[in-house]
Amino acid sequence: MSAMLLHKEKWSEFTGKLSGKNLWAPAVQGEMKKFARVAEGQTVHLDEDNTTVPPKALVFPQTETLCRFSLGQTDLELPGLDEEMVLLGVRPCDARAMALVEKLFRWDFEDPYYLERRERTTLIGLACNEPDLNCFCSSVGGGPASPEGLDILMSDLGESYLLEDITEKGKALVEEFKDLLEEAPADAVKQKEQLVEDAVAKIKWNVDPEGIPEALPQLWEDPLWEKVSAACLGCGICTYLCPTCHCFDIQDEVEGPAGRRCRMWDSCMFAEYTKHTSGHNPRPTRRERTRNRINHKYSYFVDKFGVIACVGCGRCSNLCPVNIDLIDILRQVKAAR
Ligand code: SF4
Ligand code: SF4
Repeated sequence: MSAMLLHKEKWSEFTGKLSGKNLWAPAVQGEMKKFARVAEGQTVHLDEDNTTVPPKALVFPQTETLCRFSLGQTDLELPGLDEEMVLLGVRPCDARAMALVEKLFRWDFEDPYYLERRERTTLIGLACNEPDLNCFCSSVGGGPASPEGLDILMSDLGESYLLEDITEKGKALVEEFKDLLEEAPADAVKQKEQLVEDAVAKIKWNVDPEGIPEALPQLWEDPLWEKVSAACLGCGICTYLCPTCHCFDIQDEVEGPAGRRCRMWDSCMFAEYTKHTSGHNPRPTRRERTRNRINHKYSYFVDKFGVIACVGCGRCSNLCPVNIDLIDILRQVKAAR
């Protein structure tokens, strides 16, 4: 791993040159912040706030066409490969989330749509110097400068950025931009380490997940589920904006003699998600649906892949319209053991 410095006076030139590579970076759009395409030659401005919509949406789009078909034809038309893209300013929690989602898409079937798009994407991360109100990444195996899932980790040192390449893809990109970079002195790396230590100390919430995966099956009928789900509106925001949620539905859209098969995000917080054709619903109320959301992240995923499917980004707590707070739920689970 190399450590290089990019002085901020070269930032415009750096992002201008990167913008020729199908560059995406955080941008405010209406009331939301999300990754948007950077026009060629445009400078990117990064700030401390994470995006409302996680960058997962670029590799696992909210709606995508799996194939097109026509009446009387047996051949399916498959979508072409997406252009390669570079995402700049990805937070370590969101990059880690992509690595977790990948476990699912590589599991019993290798999903070519997700995996090919992921392969064609380069992630340049930005370490968090100022964790957000509800962040708790360091409680669930991550951290404000976690490299997992990233190709390059960038840290803001004030006058300059420190760039550390994590993968071969990242190394190649750093090499391509070497004219704008210089080798980082040892004190720059030390400064970054101090910033990480300070950021961890600023994280307000610390939830020790020890014992939660084992406790959840024992608490199946516990009254806590009624309590924590009582205010839930079933809007699905906590799952749609979660960087690790990956449930989808597949539907055919037909118009005249042709159509397309598409896949779109779904949410276990929706009443119809588990509704059978018979009308029976094994998760008939928000109690069961909330219980499933927490079990999926903190128990089922752990059983299957050995890791908690939550990166502690805090979005579900920040954005729930009725302030249902994941940290509070986890504490109640621990208390009820
Ligand atoms: S965001 Fe809040 S109200 Fe909406 S489904 Fe999730 S927990 Fe329920
Ligand atoms: S469950 Fe909440 S805190 Fe955890 S990754 Fe999803 S949105 Fe972030």
